[in-house]
Amino acid sequence: MSNLSVVKGSCLCRAVSISTTNMSNLVGACHCNMCRKWGGGAFLAVECGSDVSFEGEENIGVYQSSEWAERGFCQKCGSHLFYRLKQNNQYFMPVGLFDNSEGLIFEHQVFIDEKPEYYSFANETKNMTGAELFAQFAPTLEN
Ligand SMILES: [Zn+2]
Ligand SMILES: [Zn+2]
Repeated sequence: MSNLSVVKGSCLCRAVSISTTNMSNLVGACHCNMCRKWGGGAFLAVECGSDVSFEGEENIGVYQSSEWAERGFCQKCGSHLFYRLKQNNQYFMPVGLFDNSEGLIFEHQVFIDEKPEYYSFANETKNMTGAELFAQFAPTLEN
């Protein structure tokens, strides 16, 4: 589902730019309380594996949001840059950072049980609750 061409993106002020060779074309939404607190709404992200490089790294702030993950942001403009699983160094990047949205498919939604009632996406996607997500991907991270 991923390709080996380099995909580029940046934050709003362009102090941080991103390149990755491993971006999935499958977009996921996370409705968890933390993501909505972080970004004001659902977090729309693509998985980029561990091969992500940054220019302007000195402008990146990192918040330790849980024992197993951290969240990066641009210290100049506040754009969110990544959610990173520390254990296996997996990056989930906000899809809006990337300049080209061609070929992207909105494929799944997680923490559907934490999604508030006042919105829902019309796309047909695979949906998982937080418990289902933890059971499938990270049984040891159950909280
Ligand atoms: Zn910025
Ligand atoms: Zn989340």
